[in-house]
Amino acid sequence: MKNVYISVVTPVYKCAECLDELYTRLIASLRSITNNFEIIMVDDGSPDNAWHIITSLATRDKRVKGIKLSRNFGQHYAITAGLDFAKGRWVVVMDADLQDQPEEIVKLYNKAQEGYDIVVGKRVERKDTFIKKITSKLFFTIYSYLTDTNIDGSISNFGIYSHKVINSIKSFKEHTRSFGLFAIWVGFKRIEIAIEHSNRKKGKSSYSIKKLFTLALDSIISHSDKPLKLFLTSGFMLSFLSFLYAIFLVIQFYIFSIPVTGWTSLMVSIYFLGGIIIACMGIIGLYLNKIYDEAKNRPLYIIAATTFKE
Ligand code: UDP
Ligand code: MG
Repeated sequence: MKNVYISVVTPVYKCAECLDELYTRLIASLRSITNNFEIIMVDDGSPDNAWHIITSLATRDKRVKGIKLSRNFGQHYAITAGLDFAKGRWVVVMDADLQDQPEEIVKLYNKAQEGYDIVVGKRVERKDTFIKKITSKLFFTIYSYLTDTNIDGSISNFGIYSHKVINSIKSFKEHTRSFGLFAIWVGFKRIEIAIEHSNRKKGKSSYSIKKLFTLALDSIISHSDKPLKLFLTSGFMLSFLSFLYAIFLVIQFYIFSIPVTGWTSLMVSIYFLGGIIIACMGIIGLYLNKIYDEAKNRPLYIIAATTFKE
């Protein structure tokens, strides 16, 4: 199928220096699959000269399509913007910082031809910082437990997705967005294959610990209602335990005539229960906040400019 149409969608933020190399390597890799492709680069309010580079690539080669968002919306919003314009029979989603290697697209595509709708890269050896690897592992362990799934941190966004998959993902209008998690949720025939992951060539990861924590919490709250259930169960457990404790105290008093002493235990239980009640309210608050966010129904991204006619 020399003429299959492939779209590559890549969000760009703080990695302008990588774009020329990304372009050259993408062209070489895509050419070996098809003559028919587009490369959609979404400038996610990048503070460097990314837009300048994207526009000059786009004037040189019409297959490069640039979309400039009005500010920094975040990686997953930028991906959403790109997908909305992608016309390919197959869509590749990848990072722009060359950690996802353009040459691997051939491998992903060939695997997809065996009859899969989703082929996602599994990073054999993640070339990220130690902190990033640890926090990611922790997140996926908690996430998998809370959502009854089994995902590990080696799965990336980097993959090839059929237009059926992309159309389903495009119907997701929710504001807490994670492309990788959506791609799991939609189902379809999916496989993960080993790929090389590379170090970030220029600049450093734009995800700070704080940003990662917010993303992790958001993803958990929007994909799982287990925290609510856990608190409900622990509430009942606590009541049951206190009932047992009450029986124990009554026996102590009437049978062994040990008077109830108790300033310390009283204080401890007040603070303990107070803490749990406040935490419960916090958790409910988080869910409520999510509902509020969704109810506002704002646009997912705003486009400031494109290099092509919409
Ligand atoms: N990115 C983005 N908007 C952001 C942060 C990141 O579009 O606010 C893009 C970035 O250009 C890159 C990808 O998301 O293509 C992954 O970002 P990064 O390399 O900073 O994170 P990491 O590789 O550490 O996950
Ligand atoms: Mg990166």
